[in-house]
Amino acid sequence: MDISGLKRDLDGIKLEDHPAIVQQKSRDFYWYSPILKRQLDHVKGDAIVSPKSDEEVIRVLAACHRHGVPVTPRGTGTGNYGQAMPLSGGVVLSLAEMNAVKSIRPGRVVAQAGAVLAQIDRETRAHSGQELRMSPSTYNTASIGGFVAGGSGGVGSIRWGGLRDLGNVIRLRIVTMEAEPKVMELTGEDVLKVMHAYGTNGIITEVEMPLTASYDWVDVIVGFDGFEEAVRFGNDLAVQDGILAKLITPIAAPIPYDYFKRHQKYFRREQSIVVCMIAPHAIDAFLAFTSRSKGEIVFRADKEPDLKGLPPAYELAWNHTTLRALRVDPTITYLQVRYPSPDHVDYIMAMAKRFGDELPGHVEYIRFDGAIGTAGLPLVRYTTEERLDEIIRIHEDNGCWIFNPHRYTLEEGGMKQTDEVQLAFKREVDPRGLLNPGKMIAWENPDYDYRTSKPFLFKGLQRAS
Ligand code: FAD
Repeated sequence: MDISGLKRDLDGIKLEDHPAIVQQKSRDFYWYSPILKRQLDHVKGDAIVSPKSDEEVIRVLAACHRHGVPVTPRGTGTGNYGQAMPLSGGVVLSLAEMNAVKSIRPGRVVAQAGAVLAQIDRETRAHSGQELRMSPSTYNTASIGGFVAGGSGGVGSIRWGGLRDLGNVIRLRIVTMEAEPKVMELTGEDVLKVMHAYGTNGIITEVEMPLTASYDWVDVIVGFDGFEEAVRFGNDLAVQDGILAKLITPIAAPIPYDYFKRHQKYFRREQSIVVCMIAPHAIDAFLAFTSRSKGEIVFRADKEPDLKGLPPAYELAWNHTTLRALRVDPTITYLQVRYPSPDHVDYIMAMAKRFGDELPGHVEYIRFDGAIGTAGLPLVRYTTEERLDEIIRIHEDNGCWIFNPHRYTLEEGGMKQTDEVQLAFKREVDPRGLLNPGKMIAWENPDYDYRTSKPFLFKGLQRAS
């Protein structure tokens, strides 16, 4: 890898090779997983390159191609499976400085890939009272390019489904990794070739996303004596078509009291909760609906005299639930579970009863092909890798699907299926395999046997150590 030659070729483009900064920008939230922490702790790039325009991206990719240098794109590094970590070293391509919102029209926004989601919403709200349909709970820090390339859905998915549902991304502009990089505009079915491909299939430089009406969402938390009541309340609320909700998140005791330290005074330790974001015009209907259940409104942001120091509701939900638990108890980790619908409540409760306090429950209600479904993110009181594998196996044996957050490859995280369309596209846009090497098993080792219980070990990881 000829880094000094590369530097000469990139003259005029921002490049940082101070070891401490390179190390910091070579990391994401991989440490959520004790397994990824062990495997990836040493991973480090050689330089951070921060282009400011499509033209600079093209120059960087052409030079890296010429010198055989791997390139790992990075938004703001909030992914939590090591997606943005350069397993073979090389260039970490930070898109953070390409962050302009370029145009806003009814129902759509065009932004550069490095724009932070909250910044996009600030501009679309001020412009015409619109907001993005969905965002991860890292709304305040994550980039739109990183969300499309590494995320799946989040706050808003109860109304709009996942990122991968057709229509939730309108257009992507990418730059290919070739001797003479090309610019491609992808729409319709084609956006899926790049979405959730961890940056292995082209560098996204511009994104066009659909918008919806924005509201001053009201954070409300409802308390219940048991997790089952909370889960059932969430399910019943999710199917109330007249009550506009952006977030419905049942969380089992003692997570709220033990780990949501800044909200702790609102909870009893044995209380399970449902965290909600409700449109202001739907609040009266929501209260009427809640009064029919055994729920107790324990927190309403619109009635609080002082919200200073309290995180927004969405920063208690999705992967923030785990983050808050980890800050109190670093031995905790989590799982990602899909409980089959329409009987998801039964599956959730079967697993909750089976594992008890070893896996305190956390569920996100989402819309899935028009019906209500769930994304489970239970906490795991981690003991050993063997026990974690056993917990996963018990879920699978009981009909629950695991999206393993303790693996850095696309296939192992996404239920061991190679995405043939993404693989074929990679041959076209990155023929030398220089984009984020090690993340797509089908590219690295087409004969890999998924029946082995051992995680895939990318050979390039050794070179990075
Ligand atoms: P990065 O972490 O920088 O990158 C993510 C992936 O995309 C990497 O593989 C990277 O190589 C690739 N990439 C980045 N930019 C580009 C580009 N321009 N072109 C091509 N590839 C690119 N995810 C969810 O889906 N929903 C959630 O609710 C959610 N909540 C989270 C909460 C916490 C506390 C944490 C730590 C993570 C959470 N995540 C969630 C994961 C992550 O925050 C999101 O997916 C986020 O959108 C990633 O954006 P980023 O800018 O940080 O991307």
